[in-house]
Amino acid sequence: MFKRARNTAKSADWRSTFARRVLTALLAVVLLPAVAASVEAGDPLLAYGARIVGDDARTRIVIDFDREPRFSVHYIANPERIVIDLPATAFGFPAKDLAARGLFKDIRYGKMDEESARIVLTTAGPVKLALAKVQADEAGKGHRLVLDAEMIDKQAFAELVKTQSWSDRTEAAQTTSAIPAPEKAAPGDFVIAVDAGHGGIDTGAIGVDTKTEEKQVTLAFAKALTDRLNKEPGIKAFLTREDDEFLSLSQRVLIARQNHAGLFISLHADTLKQKDIRGATVYTISDKASDKLAADLAERENLSDQIAGKETVAEPPEVADILLDLTRRETQAFSISLAESVLNSFKDQVGTINNPHRHAGFRVLQAPDVPSILLELGFLSNAEDEKLLLDETWRGKTVGLLTEAVKRYRAAVMANGG
Ligand SMILES: [Zn+2]
Repeated sequence: MFKRARNTAKSADWRSTFARRVLTALLAVVLLPAVAASVEAGDPLLAYGARIVGDDARTRIVIDFDREPRFSVHYIANPERIVIDLPATAFGFPAKDLAARGLFKDIRYGKMDEESARIVLTTAGPVKLALAKVQADEAGKGHRLVLDAEMIDKQAFAELVKTQSWSDRTEAAQTTSAIPAPEKAAPGDFVIAVDAGHGGIDTGAIGVDTKTEEKQVTLAFAKALTDRLNKEPGIKAFLTREDDEFLSLSQRVLIARQNHAGLFISLHADTLKQKDIRGATVYTISDKASDKLAADLAERENLSDQIAGKETVAEPPEVADILLDLTRRETQAFSISLAESVLNSFKDQVGTINNPHRHAGFRVLQAPDVPSILLELGFLSNAEDEKLLLDETWRGKTVGLLTEAVKRYRAAVMANGG
């Protein structure tokens, strides 16, 4: 009796367990795709831990994720880089845990756009991933991405680059879809593209004192400037990027041109080796740099695409086009006139470096038909400048002076029938 009862109970138990399992399995089949899809569309993956070990012969990187990451690997030459593309990912581990070592001389990771993130490993020479796989964590804490790099010869690397099929999705997606149009620009409005330097995987410079990231400083300033400019009748300002995402230099130029901008203002706050140098600088484009400081700065700014794992696109050969040449010259004259107007406004109000109007070959200033300046607001390598760059009162004052400069420039252009 006892035994039977127990048997019955056991079988009932078994039946209910079985039923529960079937139900769970069924629910999993029905619900999982929905759950997975909602997770994919909403929450980014969380990369919560990272380690790097090894030497110049072999280097291993391990990154811990809360869920299984889909990933793809690509190789880029000049300089040699390995690009790991991921879905949207929040990188939550300390930067020191994934500091460059062994075969990797530079490691960057961060957001590309709303749907994607990227890790860019710049290598000391030709390298390939002998192993790149995702493993479930034994403790059930998620998944880990394991990357084992080893040295190969130049020819083998060239072969890797050649045989992979890859078109950079992030470039295509952003070029076609993410062109922000200025709101309610009426015909005759003076349209201004305000460009917050750097963003996403490209953090830009890092402040000496409070470790402020340049990409944050430029975005906060760009937003304040856009808001201030839009208070002026007949002016419509817009941002090339509205949040922390990566835009290539050519995308920035393209966005300005496609929105028929009459001005392009790129904002920066870089660092210099000479920590005592402080104050603003206004740059316009030129083939030949005005000085060494300008040349070095332009060279570093032009590295932005490389940092983000973009292929170096060969500049199209200069076409001998008299009309284009004329446009370029006229645009350059307008750019210089804006730069002078800005520096007039800053006089005795905003500190500037010596010879504050300089020029160099900044790729972000190369629109042939949009007058463009690059404004270094100050230097994050100088502690006092860093303080100012984070100060809202200073920002408000500077934004007001820039607006005055833009208005004066516009009045002069209109007086000349522009
Ligand atoms: Zn910069």
